Amino acid sequence: MKPDFSKGLLPAVLQHWTDRTVLMLGYMNEEAYERTVSEGVVWFYSRSKERLWKKGESSGNVQRVKDMALDCDQDTLLIQVDPAGPTCHTGANSCFGDESVSPLQSLEGMIRDRAADRASGSYTNYLLGEGIDKIAKKFGEESFEVVIAAMKRDREELKNETADLLYHLFVLLHEQGVGIGEIERILDERHAKKNNFKGERKDIREW
Ligand code: AMP
Ligand code: ZN
Ligand code: ZN
Ligand code: ZN
Repeated sequence: MKPDFSKGLLPAVLQHWTDRTVLMLGYMNEEAYERTVSEGVVWFYSRSKERLWKKGESSGNVQRVKDMALDCDQDTLLIQVDPAGPTCHTGANSCFGDESVSPLQSLEGMIRDRAADRASGSYTNYLLGEGIDKIAKKFGEESFEVVIAAMKRDREELKNETADLLYHLFVLLHEQGVGIGEIERILDERHAKKNNFKGERKDIREW
């Protein structure tokens, strides 16, 4: 469906296509929208410059379009982008600060980036190329290393092995096509249930 420009400029929210960070808000007129669709990089109408503005025209930090969607009443755009560099002119990745993305989301995003870039020769690509047997075996090994570190009460080793474990877990989830959002939803549901049973000692559960 095409957006409705009869009431003027349309706000367009840019969101990072892998880690889902909200990057910036800009406004589009019809021509900015048409160019964005035809060129695959984001154009805005700049209210301060009063002209069409290709984001990244001087900085080089163009925003490649991965997906575009309209909101419920077709008057706001949500654009998933792959930014060529920091989206904010201050040098921050996001105009809303770089603290907004959860570490789990950025780990998932990093793995998705590596997986998409087959030529990178990254360890992630190697693991995904080997397949689930290799990935599951590595995950098993890392969980054993976490157990050993905990039994030894070696905090440094525990932190490092936990990082290894989480990384391999996320590669495994990626290989299986399971998104971290799906896990978060289950945790939210459990959390909601737990609160419903307040006072009934249903709060202690088997994980
Ligand atoms: P650019 O489009 O990245 O080449 O930036 C050109 C100019 O647009 C900058 O010097 C800023 O004045 C402005 N600008 C760029 N990015 C942003 C942004 N995310 N928010 C507001 N203004 C911006
Ligand atoms: Zn709306
Ligand atoms: Zn900014
Ligand atoms: Zn390890």
